[in-house]
Amino acid sequence: MTTNKNNLTTSWGAPVGDNQNSMTAGSRGPTLIQDVHLLEKLAHFNRERVPERVVHAKGAGAHGYFEVTNDVSKYTKAKFLSEVGKRTPLFVRFSTVAGENGSADSVRDPRGFAVKFYTEEGNYDLVGNNTPVFFIRDAIKFPDFIHTQKRHPVTHLKNPDAVWDFWSLSPESLHQVTILMSDRGIPATYRHMHGFGSHTFKWVNAEGEGVWIKYHFKTEQGIKNLTEEGGTKIAGENPDYHTQDLYEAIEKGDFPTWKLYVQIMPLEDADTYRFDPFDVTKVWSQKDYPLIEVGRMVLNRNPENYFAEVEQATFSPGTLVPGIEPSPDKMLQGRLFAYADAHRYRVGANHNSLPINRPKAEVHNYQRDGQMRFDSNGGGSVYYEPNSFGGPQESPENKTTAYPVSGSADSTAYDHNDHYTQAGDLYRLLSEEERTRLVSNIVGSMKQVTKDEIKLRQIQHFYKADPEYGTRVAEGLGLSVPQEV
Ligand code: NDP
Repeated sequence: MTTNKNNLTTSWGAPVGDNQNSMTAGSRGPTLIQDVHLLEKLAHFNRERVPERVVHAKGAGAHGYFEVTNDVSKYTKAKFLSEVGKRTPLFVRFSTVAGENGSADSVRDPRGFAVKFYTEEGNYDLVGNNTPVFFIRDAIKFPDFIHTQKRHPVTHLKNPDAVWDFWSLSPESLHQVTILMSDRGIPATYRHMHGFGSHTFKWVNAEGEGVWIKYHFKTEQGIKNLTEEGGTKIAGENPDYHTQDLYEAIEKGDFPTWKLYVQIMPLEDADTYRFDPFDVTKVWSQKDYPLIEVGRMVLNRNPENYFAEVEQATFSPGTLVPGIEPSPDKMLQGRLFAYADAHRYRVGANHNSLPINRPKAEVHNYQRDGQMRFDSNGGGSVYYEPNSFGGPQESPENKTTAYPVSGSADSTAYDHNDHYTQAGDLYRLLSEEERTRLVSNIVGSMKQVTKDEIKLRQIQHFYKADPEYGTRVAEGLGLSVPQEV
């Protein structure tokens, strides 16, 4: 070994003689191609970015733990939930949805709320948002929806026409649009918002009995929001406001915490509930299915390296452990494919081997090779199954539980099309001041729409949710509620 610990080296470990002056023919140049240290330095720099996430590009992350505070073992056999007091390490990534990696934090947008539990039975990812519902309920609409949130192909500007055209033609979005335009559409910080699994999942106990569940993380910091004006001001002064807030709170020992609750629905209720409980544009009323406490999440450690931990963290709603299974929710079913696929493209086929994603549980399988396979790649162990050489074997007790399906294979919508009751219920639970701000936020955004046809169509939806709601938006826009309502 000729290099000492403090020597600057190339990426292949050789000492670097000069890192300030490139090698040139004479002191004026030109530069010589034989300066491979220069070539490597410039070439590696060009490759510093992996593709940013198409959605949820701007985010902040933190490490912490989850502690079980209530016995839910009669509902799920998931080992990390098996006893009160049990702690599981986790990593969380919060994010905005539509903006690019450098965009402002304090904008009106849902927030991603993704949690990776490093359980003894493998990783469990709970990849939700700060809202209990979503804009659409079938994954086939997702690329179109996101196009409307992104930039116009000619002007490269955000496009209110596209936003409201799509929403007005997709009335299932009304509930989420109402939440987004309400006070909770701009959280004061990532610490001051709730989190939701949003979809329905299935919990299965040791006897193989299942229940449908929905997750709610309730902030123990309390809900706090920014007004439209407050958010706009902060976006100019400090676009990284939420990122900085989370980092600094944890750095000074003010650890943010959330209580986790579930709503539990017996499997058979799904057939008779007053709407389809798998429809992610709906909440289950807490009067029908009250919140049941599960545990508490504490974030107590900042990442040591943003790129290695936050940017390379890969979450997927399909990253499940025994005792937790998907539901037929059509949006969830699409996400089971799309998230892992995004990571295979963005980070690589072996993304699960990176330190931030690697399970604490041992991994034994027959996957081999692929780009950036930086571990021992299974060495000389058996690389196919079935085999006679003692390779890892399946455990039938961990099969996903069977459930009956019926109907014809066809492209069909959910049976229930009431997009109005729950949006109206939310409007009616708001105070007068909250309603005024909701309407003002909507009017401020819809004023930018160039076609009256789009505005009138959307006003009809607000009116159907609650006549007062529709009338106030129409008045704010200087329009009348259309006759046909
Ligand atoms: P409940 O009274 O049982 O629940 C009301 C829920 O609304 C609580 O979770 C409460 O959360 C939340 N909430 C209160 N104020 C606001 C607000 N300003 N903005 C957004 N959410 C708020 O009634 P239902 O379960 O029958 O639901 C009524 C409406 O409440 C729904 O249509 C839905 O829009 C909204 N909602 C329902 C949720 C659910 O899981 N059922 C979850 C979130 C919202 P908090 O304790 O934090 O104030």
